[in-house]
Amino acid sequence: MEDGHPFARRGVVGRLAPFVGVACLAFVLVPLPPAEENASALLGAAWLCLLIMALALLAPWEKLPLGAQALAPLAYFVVIALLREAEGGSVSGYGTLVLLPICWLALYGNRVQLSAALVVMAVMFVAPIILLGEPRYPSSEWRRALMWAGVGPVVGLTVQRLVSQRRELIGSLHEIARSDALTGVANRRAWDERLPSELSRALRSGKPVSVALLDLDHFKAFNDSRGHQAGDQLLMEAARAWEGQIRGADLIARYGGEEFALLLLDCPVIEAHGIVERLRQVTPGEETCSVGIACWDGSESPDALIARADRALYGAKRAGRNQAVLAAQLCRR
Ligand code: GH3
Ligand code: MG
Ligand code: MG
Repeated sequence: MEDGHPFARRGVVGRLAPFVGVACLAFVLVPLPPAEENASALLGAAWLCLLIMALALLAPWEKLPLGAQALAPLAYFVVIALLREAEGGSVSGYGTLVLLPICWLALYGNRVQLSAALVVMAVMFVAPIILLGEPRYPSSEWRRALMWAGVGPVVGLTVQRLVSQRRELIGSLHEIARSDALTGVANRRAWDERLPSELSRALRSGKPVSVALLDLDHFKAFNDSRGHQAGDQLLMEAARAWEGQIRGADLIARYGGEEFALLLLDCPVIEAHGIVERLRQVTPGEETCSVGIACWDGSESPDALIARADRALYGAKRAGRNQAVLAAQLCRR
């Protein structure tokens, strides 16, 4: 859920459902008012409530300024004020409905929108005491208004804090789930997600995409002679050095073990070869790596593209290692 977009299209019906349910319950339970003026308040509340629901579902919220998204929940305070009025003023229990717009903006809005709701809530409780006064809104109502002035912010800010903590938590879980614990670069999961989406994008844009598989040479022997920890250190340093050579939009991922995958966007195969040579030169220490490079042909699947790069890598190993080999099939441009 985007911060400050209470009516973002995705899932809005499901999010609105419990709030609409409580609003309907309020209208079902409200006793029919005896006096004619109360009936008109009830009718006004019902019409306004319907209008708010229609607006919530149908208005082009994405095209309106961010602040406008608070208008529907704020207008709901008027519904609550009219319902209270219809049920006899301050004796009515309908004031508790203020928790609906407050919770809505705490869950889906931003801090400014929630603050606006809290101010409007305070006005909703205080204005009738000042403007209408006795007998429907006696001065004893100030106590209730003060209670709400405390309860409203506590509920709203607590919910909003939990929502933002949850959002941050999901963000860091997303980050952890997609990065390799040892080297810090993207992991296989991130690679498997990103490659198909970049190929779809390339299909639309017509730009060339190249991938390369890099594999450290004789890494088992390195581990055996220098120890596993030195092997880990080499993996970290190699990943850092290689990552430093690519553009921010490109991706380097640990594909598995001592094998890394490179995704080079808007990059024809010749350019990819140049970049890979740069990477090979910065491989740490005396170590070397072999590389297979393949440029997407414009129609093959991600797996087929990787398989071609893998075959090219195998060719590089067979040809004596410490070199980059281009996959046979030509790039579409
Ligand atoms: P080649 O030149 O043919 O690629 O030979 P190689 O020895 O590099 O390849 P091989 O597949 O035989 O060995 C890969 C080694 O990588 C074996 C495994 O112990 C080591 N390895 C895989 N993951 C890690 C890791 O996270 N840390 C360390 N230190 N070693 C790892
Ligand atoms: Mg190897
Ligand atoms: Mg390997």
